[in-house]
Amino acid sequence: MEALVRIDALHKYFGSNHVLKGIDLRIQPGEVVAIIGRSGSGKSTLLRSINGLETFDQGLVEVDGERLHAGQTDLRALRQKVGMVFQQFNLFPHLTAGQNVMLAPQVVKKTPTAECETIARAMLAKVGLAEKFDAYPDQLSGGQQQRVAIARALAMQPKVLLCDEITSALDPELVNEVLAVVKQLASEGMTLIMVTHEMRFAREVGDKLVFMYQGRVHESGHPQELFASPKTLELQNFIGAIN
Ligand code: ADP
Ligand code: MG
Repeated sequence: MEALVRIDALHKYFGSNHVLKGIDLRIQPGEVVAIIGRSGSGKSTLLRSINGLETFDQGLVEVDGERLHAGQTDLRALRQKVGMVFQQFNLFPHLTAGQNVMLAPQVVKKTPTAECETIARAMLAKVGLAEKFDAYPDQLSGGQQQRVAIARALAMQPKVLLCDEITSALDPELVNEVLAVVKQLASEGMTLIMVTHEMRFAREVGDKLVFMYQGRVHESGHPQELFASPKTLELQNFIGAIN
């Protein structure tokens, strides 16, 4: 099968800081990839390179046939294929949940307003918030706001959804409602790349686990196998430290 996401020999520097040191990844349609690793190991920079939020210095990113080369700044074609959800929900506070979800199709795709509303209602329903279309972000819990952010990303009908520690800013009791939405998307066949600290979730839902260490993919494979018998000392230590 043709990979949906292909990353070849990706290198990224911030000044003299060599942050990504040759990343190679292939992700198949429908695959759920969990990326783990210590703070500073390059996880966010990798995700941000996949949707062009960061330029990179060497290598190639390809999503569904759209290529991104080192230094490239015209990202429109690729951006439409990639959705992203962040740790901070970043909803527009002066727009309702529905308006937040409608905005990108309206502005970026020039989809007619009525159609945008239909899409937004469907996406809010998908994340279990059909009745919150007219609510403002400050009337919603953190978990609900993050679900709106997921609906907003889905409204662009991305081929792949990137999630960067999307439960890390939530109170513990709100984590599961967001993970349940991600799990449902996974079961529906969405291709997902998620940076996460939720190891149980990574083990349960992930098809592939990627352990990053100092800007490299240090170990990768099937989550259950990797957790059961990590090959490298670094992954052993990482798993030990979080358990
Ligand atoms: P992680 O998400 O795994 O915690 P990051 O990708 O955020 O790691 O960071 C990797 C490295 O890149 C760190 O050394 C960090 O300080 C550096 N870095 C990240 N973003 C920037 C930036 N915008 N400018 C300079 N350095 C950065
Ligand atoms: Mg990060």
